[in-house]
Amino acid sequence: MAFGQAAFRGYHPDLASGDLWGVILINPSAPTGIATVASVTIELDLPPGVEITGYERHQDGHGFGVRWPLPERCRCERCGHEDRAHIEFKTSPQAIRDLDVWGQPSFWIYQAPFHRCARCDYRQHLIPPFKRKDTAYTYRFEQFVLRSLIGSTAEDVARRLGISAETVERIVENQLAEERQVDLQRVITDIGLDELSLKKRHRLYVTLMTDLSDPARPQILAVARGKDTAAAQKCLDLLSEEQRQQVRTHRVDMGSAYPAACAERLTNSRAVTDRFHVAKKFNEAVDALRKK
Ligand SMILES: [Zn+2]
Repeated sequence: MAFGQAAFRGYHPDLASGDLWGVILINPSAPTGIATVASVTIELDLPPGVEITGYERHQDGHGFGVRWPLPERCRCERCGHEDRAHIEFKTSPQAIRDLDVWGQPSFWIYQAPFHRCARCDYRQHLIPPFKRKDTAYTYRFEQFVLRSLIGSTAEDVARRLGISAETVERIVENQLAEERQVDLQRVITDIGLDELSLKKRHRLYVTLMTDLSDPARPQILAVARGKDTAAAQKCLDLLSEEQRQQVRTHRVDMGSAYPAACAERLTNSRAVTDRFHVAKKFNEAVDALRKK
C-alpha cells in the first residue's frame, strides 16, 4: 500500500496508546532523489480471514476495501432449501465504520454479497463476520464505543466519534443483548470493572468487565445491566474458577459494589486504586487526537 507523503505527517509515537490498530510503520526506502514519494505501511489488526484489498480517502477519514471468505453452501432463510451458494453482489459499495486511524475515522468498504435461492429466488444477505446485521459499524467499533463511555456521557462520545447519541445507546443495547462467553483458555491477570451511566431521564447503568492484562489492548469480556453486586458477579462468573484464580490485580471504583464482589470471587487478586486511570487516559488520548 503506497500513497503520497501528503496523506500523513510522519510517525506519531504518541498515537500508540489510543491506537487500537497496532503498529504504524513508515518505510523510508523511497528511491533517493524523489523526496516527495514515500511508502507507508499500515499494519492493521484484522479479524481472522478478513483481507484488505485497497485504500482510498473516504470523507474526512480512511477507506479500506475489504474481503472475507464467503460460504460454499447456503441454506435459504425463507424456504429452507440448501444448495451451493449462488452469490451476487450489490453494485453500490457499503461503508462500515471501524476504529480510528491517526485520529480520523476509518471505514471498511465492500460490495455487500447475497445468496439467491435457486428454488424460491429469495435474496438473503451474507452478513460479514466483523459486524452484526443491520448496523453500519464493526463489532470492534462497538467495543471502542463502550470503552469510550467509561467516565463520559453518550453525548460526549457521540460528538467525539461523529455519530449520534442514539447510535451510541443502540450499541450499548446490542452489547447488552449479546450472549457472551469468555474463552476458557485465555489467561487473564488484570481485570477492570467500570460502570457506564446512560440516558438522563430513565437512567441506564451498565457494568463493563475488561481484560487489562495487556494495557495497550484492553479487551471487553462482559457487559451487564446494572452496577450492583449482582451485575459484577454476573461478569466475574463468565470466568472459570481457574481463570479467577489467575487474576492478580483488579481496577475498580472503590466507592462502588465492585470491590466486595472482586474480593469474594478473585481471591488471589489485589485492588489497584487508580480509579478512572485507564479510562481517563484513554479518553484524554482520544480528545487530544480530535483537537489536532
Ligand atoms: Zn428459498
